Amino acid sequence: MRKVKYIILGAGSSGLTALGQIRRETDDFVMINGGYFGTTCARVGCMPSKALIHCAEHYHARKHFYEFGIHGADQLRIDDAAVMRRVRAFRDRFTKGVQSGSTDTLKPDQLIKGYAHFSGPNTVEVNGQTIEGERIIIATGSRPVVPEPWQALGDKLLTSDEIFELEHLPKRVAVIGLGIIGLELGQALSRLGVEVYGFEMTNTMAGLSSPSASKELVKNISKEFPVYLGEPAELEDTDKGVKVTVSSGSFEVDAVLASLGRRPNIDQIGLENLGVALDDKGMPAFDLETMQVADLPVFIAGDVNAFRPILHEAGHEGKIAVTNAKNYPKVDAFARMTPLGIAFTDPQVGFFGQSYAELDLEQTVVVDFHLERNNGRAIVMGEDKGVISLFADKQSKQLIGGELVMPHAEHFTHLLSWAVAQKQTVLSLLKMPYYHPVLEEAIESAMADLAKELYTPEAIQALTPAS
Ligand SMILES: Cc1cc2nc3c(=O)[nH]c(=O)nc-3n(C[C@H](O)[C@H](O)[C@H](O)COP(=O)(O)OP(=O)(O)OC[C@H]3O[C@@H](n4cnc5c(N)ncnc54)[C@H](O)[C@@H]3O)c2cc1C
Repeated sequence: MRKVKYIILGAGSSGLTALGQIRRETDDFVMINGGYFGTTCARVGCMPSKALIHCAEHYHARKHFYEFGIHGADQLRIDDAAVMRRVRAFRDRFTKGVQSGSTDTLKPDQLIKGYAHFSGPNTVEVNGQTIEGERIIIATGSRPVVPEPWQALGDKLLTSDEIFELEHLPKRVAVIGLGIIGLELGQALSRLGVEVYGFEMTNTMAGLSSPSASKELVKNISKEFPVYLGEPAELEDTDKGVKVTVSSGSFEVDAVLASLGRRPNIDQIGLENLGVALDDKGMPAFDLETMQVADLPVFIAGDVNAFRPILHEAGHEGKIAVTNAKNYPKVDAFARMTPLGIAFTDPQVGFFGQSYAELDLEQTVVVDFHLERNNGRAIVMGEDKGVISLFADKQSKQLIGGELVMPHAEHFTHLLSWAVAQKQTVLSLLKMPYYHPVLEEAIESAMADLAKELYTPEAIQALTPAS
C-alpha cells in the first residue's frame, strides 16, 4: 500500500492553500481531486458571478442616464451571447491562473484525479487504489442543493454550476432561494433583460436578520422584479416551461434557477469509516479553532464543514488545518476572524460581527440610519437608498456588529469589521477623520446616533474643540 505523510482531499481554495504550505516542507504528499480543477470560486462561484453582475450593472446604468442629461439610452441593446462569452473568458483566465500556479506544477505521483473516500481513519481509496496518510486534510467543498424531484426538469433546471455555461439567457426565469447567490444572480439576470420572479421560503433575503435592513432590501429589490417571500414555491413541468406556484398565483417561466443553498461534500467520502460519531447530517465533531476532527490526525477545512462557506474563510481554515496537520499531535487553537459577508447586489448588502439575530437586545444599542435624503454625496449620485443598522454593546460601548444595505457596502463592511476586530468603542470611531462629501459621513451619522445612546452629552461634546 502506498504511504504518504499528507493526503489532501480536494483542490479547491482551501485544499490549495494547504498544498502551498505542505510543499514548502516536503514532497511526501498526494493531492486528490474529483471533478473539475480551478476551484469553485474561479470556475462557478465568486468570479464568474461578479463578471456577470458587472455587465448587468453597466447596462442597468442606462436607466438613470436621462436624469443626468444623457440622451439616447433607449437605443442601447444587450448582446447576451457576448455577455456570456465575456463571463466565460474571465472564468477561463482565472481557473488557468489558479492551476498554473498549483496543480499544474505537481509531479504525476503527487496528483490523483478522482473522487476519494475514507476506507479507515488514515486510509483513503481512489480509483481502486488505497493510500495511507499520516495526516489528512478534508477540503472537498460543497455543491448546490437540488431537491430530487426537480431533477426531472432536465435542462430547464439551472444552478450556479450551469448558468455560466449558457450561450443565451432564457427569457423568463424563476429564482428559487434568495440567499446571497440567488439574489446576486437574480438581480443580474433581471438587469440583463430576463423576466425574473424571485421566491424565498423565509421572510428575509441575503441572510439578513436586522428588521430594518431586511425591509430596506426587500423594498429595493421588489422595484426591479417581483419577490414572493415566506412560503415554499411548488414547481410543475409544462410543455412550454415550468409552472411555479405560490399562494398568490402561478407563473410560467422558461427555466428555474435553484439557489437553495449548498450541501457540504461529506456524504460520499466514507466519513463513517473514521471511527468517530457522526451527527444527523453526517458531520463528525470538529473543532472550529483547530479544524481537527475529533482527536484524529484529520482536519476539515472550507465549505465542506459548512461553518462559513465563503472564500476568505476557506483559505483561513486551510491555513489552520495545515498548521495543525504539520504539528500534530500538537494542535493549536487559532482565533476565528470577525464574521464578514457581502452580497454584490444593488444596493449592496454587508454584514459584520454579530448578526441582529445573535444579539442580546437587553445589552445592546441598535440604531438604524437611513440614507434617504440624509447623505449629500449619495443624493448627488442618485444613490440615496439604504440603511445602516449598527449594534454596540451597552457595557463596553464597543461596536459589535451591523447589517448594511447601501451603495458600496462592500467597503464599509470591511472597515467596520476591522473596527470590531480591534474592539473599537463608538467614541473612538467617532474620533476618526471623515472627509466631505462622502458616504462615510453616513457611517459617522449612524455612529453619532449610537453615541447619543451610550454616552453623556458632555462626553460627546468633548469630541469637538470648544468654540
Ligand atoms: C455562485 C457563487 C458565488 C460565490 N461568490 C462568493 C463571493 O463573492 N465571495 C466569497 O467569499 N465566496 C463566494 N462563494 C463561495 C466560495 O466560492 C466558496 O466558499 C469557496 O470556493 C470554497 O472553497 P473550498 O476549497 O472549500 O471548496 P471548492 O473550491 O469547491 O473545492 C473542493 C474541491 O474538492 C473536490 N472534491 C469533492 N469531492 C471530492 C472527493 N470525494 N475527493 C476528492 N476531491 C473531491 C471538488 O471537485 C472541488 O474541486 C460563491 C460561491 C458560489 C457558488
